Amino acid sequence: METKEFKAESKRLLEMMINSIYSQKEVFLRELISNASDAIDKIYYKALTDDTINFEKDNYFIKIKADKENRTLTISDTGIGMTKEELETNLGTIAKSGSLSFKMENEAKDGHDIIGQFGVGFYAAFMVADEVTVITKSLNSDTSYKWFSKGADGYTIEETDKDTIGTDIILKMKDNTEDDQYDEFLEEYRLKTIIKKYSDFIRYPIKMDVTSSKLKEGTENEYEEIIEEQIINSMVPIWRKNKSELTEEDYQNFYEEKRYGYDKPLKHIHVSVDGAIRYNAILYIPEKTPFDYYSKEYEKGLELYSNGVLIMEKCGDLLPDYFSFVKGMVDSEDLSLNISREMLQQDRQLKRIEKNLTKKIKSQLLSLLKDEREKYESFYQSFGRQIKFGVYNDFGMNKEMLQDLLLFYSSKEKKLVSLDEYVERMPEDQKFIYYATGDSIDRIEKLPQTELVADKGYEILYLTDDIDEFAIKMIATYKEKEFKSVSSGDLGLDQEEEKEEKEVTEENKALFDYMKDILSDKVKNVKVSTRLKSHPVCLTAEGEVSIEMEKVLSMMPD
Ligand code: ADP
Ligand code: MG
Repeated sequence: METKEFKAESKRLLEMMINSIYSQKEVFLRELISNASDAIDKIYYKALTDDTINFEKDNYFIKIKADKENRTLTISDTGIGMTKEELETNLGTIAKSGSLSFKMENEAKDGHDIIGQFGVGFYAAFMVADEVTVITKSLNSDTSYKWFSKGADGYTIEETDKDTIGTDIILKMKDNTEDDQYDEFLEEYRLKTIIKKYSDFIRYPIKMDVTSSKLKEGTENEYEEIIEEQIINSMVPIWRKNKSELTEEDYQNFYEEKRYGYDKPLKHIHVSVDGAIRYNAILYIPEKTPFDYYSKEYEKGLELYSNGVLIMEKCGDLLPDYFSFVKGMVDSEDLSLNISREMLQQDRQLKRIEKNLTKKIKSQLLSLLKDEREKYESFYQSFGRQIKFGVYNDFGMNKEMLQDLLLFYSSKEKKLVSLDEYVERMPEDQKFIYYATGDSIDRIEKLPQTELVADKGYEILYLTDDIDEFAIKMIATYKEKEFKSVSSGDLGLDQEEEKEEKEVTEENKALFDYMKDILSDKVKNVKVSTRLKSHPVCLTAEGEVSIEMEKVLSMMPD
């Protein structure tokens, strides 16, 4: 038997690969900058063990240069460069990652972790360029080389004369077509935006010549165009800094810079975890409800970074729905990404992070409730409804997580109280947590049903939001106390009174049957009540579903 090798049309394969793994063209720059950063990291690593190399941080940088006239974009770095052999193996073999080999030989020790691992990032250049030139001089070679390729036709390598160690990647941009635009990748502003978006936290400076107009010296209204080299990225991410170095203002600025919201966040949560999965996160509890929050358009999620490089703008798996209002980011070195880095390979890692963050968010909300009541109430005003939906939506699975975060208006305190506060001050003889439902506090106060319970000196929770009672039903009991509607048939107040009700109802059976007959399409039953004080009659619900709930249910679409 003979084994034959597959033949593949490499040109087609390359095209297919490039265009199917990346959903956005702009990520080519993220990939080339990541490679440049890796190349500098490699010198840094070498310097750790090699005394002949002196790693002066200031000498290492990445430079982006656009030349509109020649339609070229150049990404230069002062990194380790490539020998002729490395050019052949690393750039001549698709899916060969020189960085992955390097990583395995040099176990990362201090957070300087090399980004590359798949060996395809470089080819992202062919999404936007039809010719790529690589001019490189390796730290380990006296000769410099020029690698050139028009894509899948193959490549050429020849000697050249580059003096300094490092690599220039020169992209000859494609011409615009009817469907695709490539000019934008030569525009200063656009390039700046892409760098900021994906590569803001690359450890080395990303420099670019930026044109601006300045007042001409000695004149009052004459401007001149000047070109200045600027560093585009902020380099040190705030989440890598020590909490003790950061002020409230730093966190607020980050929130604003990242446009997480246009309000001022109520609270920030800075998490650094060094466990089975290492990650840093900065989360925010916003103050105001985003305009689309309670609509289908709203998309929950946190930004996800892998080692300082943005992978996903809104990773929904990092937050449970009931905390969908939380904003912020997570950065981890330990994620297994898929080849395009736009997706993750394992949600197990995400699940773990999500679980941990959820606990942190809850405990921060509880501490807000305990120590900064006013802020908590302002939070509750904006997002309390979402918490109640959370209790209701999963059939009470989350009640342990969420019940302590609920607030309801209290008949006694005339303000919002928590269930814990309610139960803590219940008189000893009170068996139930009483609640009344209605459109407004005013209306509930006028209900005949509330009188008797209030008369007993018991506190009543006023449920005015249509979701309230549904949530309460899901919780069912809090600290072993059952919830009871003041409108329910059996109030559980006093055995004596209830016995009397039954007896009198029995004695006047004929009368009640007659009344029931006349009101047959309106009521299910008519009976005597001992609970009325100043009102002659009241309506109560007998089954599981209260009158208020029935109203809501009947409004829902089928
Ligand atoms: P990855 O970064 O996942 O390893 P790439 O396709 O992005 O894959 O790059 C392939 C390899 O080419 C890298 O691993 C590295 O060895 C080499 N390389 C790419 N760009 C540079 C550069 N600017 N300087 C030095 N080596 C580079
Ligand atoms: Mg790469």
